[in-house]
Amino acid sequence: MLRPASTRMRVRSVASSAQLPELPLASTQNLTIPASQETSAYQHAVAVDTLDWMKVARIYQHGGPEVLVYEDTPEPRIKANEILLRVGACALNHLDLFVRGGIPGMKFDMPHVLGSDIAGEVVRVGELCERVKPGWRVLLSPGLSCRQCTQCVSGYDNLCRRYTMFGYREDGGNAEYLAAPEYSAIRIPNDMGYEEAAAVPLVFLTAWHMLMARANLQPGEDVLVLAASSGVGSAAIQIAKLFHCRVIATAGGEAKLAKARELGADHVIDHYLQDISAEVRKITAKRGVDVVIEHVGTATWQKSVESLAPAGRLVTCGATTGFDAKVDLRFLFSRQLSLLGSFMGTIGELHRVLQFVFRGQLKPVIDRVYPLAEIRAAHERLEAKEQFGKVVVVP
Ligand SMILES: [Zn+2]
Repeated sequence: MLRPASTRMRVRSVASSAQLPELPLASTQNLTIPASQETSAYQHAVAVDTLDWMKVARIYQHGGPEVLVYEDTPEPRIKANEILLRVGACALNHLDLFVRGGIPGMKFDMPHVLGSDIAGEVVRVGELCERVKPGWRVLLSPGLSCRQCTQCVSGYDNLCRRYTMFGYREDGGNAEYLAAPEYSAIRIPNDMGYEEAAAVPLVFLTAWHMLMARANLQPGEDVLVLAASSGVGSAAIQIAKLFHCRVIATAGGEAKLAKARELGADHVIDHYLQDISAEVRKITAKRGVDVVIEHVGTATWQKSVESLAPAGRLVTCGATTGFDAKVDLRFLFSRQLSLLGSFMGTIGELHRVLQFVFRGQLKPVIDRVYPLAEIRAAHERLEAKEQFGKVVVVP
């Protein structure tokens, strides 16, 4: 593996990797499995000649940023249909904060590695891999699915019952190395950096699916994008502009409003100081907007619904400020509104939106890059809503 000698440690004949994190590192060096224990405590041990170690940031329990632990762990092993990726960069999402904090009713295997948006270099491929080659620079499709059910084979992998993401039900990219299914690897242009590439997948896929698949966006429509400073918000503004729509974006504070304008927003609303729906009515000559991109939740829901024009569509992909929302059914039916849910997007849609990214027509917005060792600070920045665009960590 290409990496500084100081980060490499080699261990002979150790027990299964799952047992290793609990052992003091020094005690695992040159550890030999006693013959008497080979069929008892070490029954499932994987004896190997050598084992490479890597840095990882992970959680052993739910809680605040302090539960993130930066430490050594054995490199992952790849299955025959998997690739080994040397992670170049991994972008944070609100999902990281939710999983770290714990999601009611959801149990995660611990320790758990966060990180859904991943780019890096392929260093090894399993024997069944036919497409991807070592040395490829790739980003990973964050979505993982069974690839065999009716939804998957129909091209709707994000509706698969087994659909999940890196960093959610599977270990993610907050590590030096990651094992990933071959199908998830998508080649990136030579002139695209890993930090830039990692900032793309989840938010551009989500925004594309919301606007194109769910809202059926038409050229020239009026679109309201909530929270322009978020990853999804900054992606949605650009995609809507790609289709020559008029975009109204909300953000908090003059600095973020200016950045929203830079991304192409035609009008901006300070959601701390101004009434969103009243401003939308002013801008649209009382008509309202055709599409609202919502992911804020309780704090903005009412104003978002009120901002819709007759036959308007509201698409939501999140509830960062809470999930309680009311709907006046008289308003809903009389104005013939559509309230639509959206979750991630298909891998086909990711390939489609990446065409525009690779041509430079859509640009990832990077807020700040942290070393993986400073993962706690990266989480704190996202949690404090200080960022505009993606917070990225680099191993
Ligand atoms: Zn499936």
